[in-house]
Amino acid sequence: MSYKKETQCVQAGYTPGNGEPRVLPIYQSTTYKYDSSEHLGKLFDLEADGHMYSRISNPTVSHVEEKIAALEGGVGALCTTSGQAANLLAILNITSSGENFVSLSSIYGGTINLFAVTLKRLGIEVRFITPDMTDEQVEALFDDKTRLVFGETIANPALDVLDIEKYAKIAHAHNIPLVVDNTFATPVLCRPFEFGADIVVHSTTKYMDGQATVVGGVIVDSGNFDWTVDNKFPGLTEPDESYHGVVYTKNFGKAAYITKARVQLMRDFGVLPPAVSAFLLNSGLTTLHLRMERHSENALKVAKYLENNDKVAWVNYPGLESSKDFELAKKYLPGGCSGVISFGVKGGRDAAVKFMDSLKLAAIVVHVADARTCVLHPASTTHRQLTDEQLVAAGIGADLVRMSIGIENVDDIIEDIEQALCQA
Ligand SMILES: *Cc1c(COP(=O)(O)O)cnc(C)c1O
Repeated sequence: MSYKKETQCVQAGYTPGNGEPRVLPIYQSTTYKYDSSEHLGKLFDLEADGHMYSRISNPTVSHVEEKIAALEGGVGALCTTSGQAANLLAILNITSSGENFVSLSSIYGGTINLFAVTLKRLGIEVRFITPDMTDEQVEALFDDKTRLVFGETIANPALDVLDIEKYAKIAHAHNIPLVVDNTFATPVLCRPFEFGADIVVHSTTKYMDGQATVVGGVIVDSGNFDWTVDNKFPGLTEPDESYHGVVYTKNFGKAAYITKARVQLMRDFGVLPPAVSAFLLNSGLTTLHLRMERHSENALKVAKYLENNDKVAWVNYPGLESSKDFELAKKYLPGGCSGVISFGVKGGRDAAVKFMDSLKLAAIVVHVADARTCVLHPASTTHRQLTDEQLVAAGIGADLVRMSIGIENVDDIIEDIEQALCQA
């Protein structure tokens, strides 16, 4: 029976048997014991299910993966030690040197570095869609070596809302998948697979954990993309020599992509989170539905307060009617627009810094999206490696303050902002 998302947050992924622990156990073991070498051989040949070694899978981690796959409505998931690792593996799983991919430009700064600098060194080229491009200019970015389209449901920190259906259509017209980073929305607010996305990635460090305890990431496979069309993905459709000629699409069907990511890339790169990290992530997920509701509610109230404050130059929150993405938000984020707001304090960079230094309840941290309200100046921190041009393309001005609204009492949050604005 398939439960609703609130029930999945609490219960999916782990169903104890008679007399077993009610709470997901931490399987703190690198190793798994088998009765015969024949069985272990079958595991190595990918003919049997089971855990072999905790670089590739671990029971605690697997239960959390199943919960997240259920929440997103996918066929399988793979947890990683960070959101960066999730994005890296998600792309490497279907690209090789000499190939390229297309990405929206308004995405997380760390992801821009990964794409534009590190992947470039590996011979994989990113081509950015900037906000000023016409449909024809976007179309011109694609060629026969393009392997995927990438975007963020709610871009960090520009807060652009991705038109998932539009980009899914564009990707599918080229027989390539749409990969969506769903970190800020979480499956509670948006399930990208329902709009045609094929692969979802997350930094679980943010709302999924929600307590700011563990850095992590996850890749989720919808199982919907047909990798066999057009011969663009030989890694999935041709024999893998490192597994005696296994063909992922043949042997694993709908789970081809996520199986390859685990048994090949996770085996080789070894970025599976420890069991304790997965346990903590699972605890966070248990309250995700409640938190996302409160984050969204509080953020909308704060955004409206800021919009009516004459010390504030501008406010960007997709839930505001004044937002250029309000219509997209109504379509893709009907249950709320998550907890992150950006705004400019009148007086530019200096006023922004003075405002931030005057906050008492909201802390200055290099983080967003946990229970505690926090604040950051991207141009001088998370995005400081970007050139001015890249900053503009990512939608970030020098006066931009990014505020992550927590789940405290919203009146306290607004009071804190009010007193800090008076100092600025
Ligand atoms: C934070 C973040 C990442 C990177 O995740 P880490 O867990 O910090 O490695 C990727 N994408 C988005 C949208 C993020 O907010």
